[in-house]
Amino acid sequence: MATPGPFDRERATLLNPPGLSEAWHGLDLRATLGRHFGCPVFAENDANCAALAEARFGAGRGFPTVAYYTVSTGIGAGVVRDGELVIARHDTEAGHQVLWPAHLGGPECHCGGHGCLEALASGNAIRKRFGVAPEELDDPSAWAEIGRWLGLAVVNTVALLDCDVVVFGGGVVKAWERFDRELRRTVRESLFLQPPPEIRRAELGDDRNVWGAMTLVRGLAPPPTLVQ
Ligand SMILES: [Zn+2]
Repeated sequence: MATPGPFDRERATLLNPPGLSEAWHGLDLRATLGRHFGCPVFAENDANCAALAEARFGAGRGFPTVAYYTVSTGIGAGVVRDGELVIARHDTEAGHQVLWPAHLGGPECHCGGHGCLEALASGNAIRKRFGVAPEELDDPSAWAEIGRWLGLAVVNTVALLDCDVVVFGGGVVKAWERFDRELRRTVRESLFLQPPPEIRRAELGDDRNVWGAMTLVRGLAPPPTLVQ
């Protein structure tokens, strides 16, 4: 299962993913799905699954260190080094890196904080801040702002990881041409001590989470065909 975080990896149990209703909170996937399908169940963060798929088979292939961002209703991220997921104590939550702190007026985030990347540049943030769905957002200055927030996220990511490539996927990235110039400009103008990474749009389409999950479970070489 590719699941939204946060979740308990050891027990394959969802904790309190803010994007899902409370009916999902605490759901034991291993027991529930294992009973239903009669097979072992493993769970991994959906952005991690997507990151692994893009790093192995998509826009990040060939790069030693890949950072991947899903920019969809929410924002998640994953890191892959030498073809393997980087997993630390719990989950990465790069969608909740703070770019506009509360004391400077950053908008509320549903995680409880203020000014998180997810509260500024996700699909839900676009609806809340600009009053329309991302596919209906026409205002160039709004897209430029979204590009700047995502560019700052790249800068922070490079500062910590010195990654070779940052890959962006997810629904909001369908409007890539509307914000990528401002994103790249922000990176250029904000990185001084490190060379900029490659910045790429994801290649694998909406099934990338599934490919990543399958890869984790089966430890396979690239799947024979990828549907774009
Ligand atoms: Zn947040």
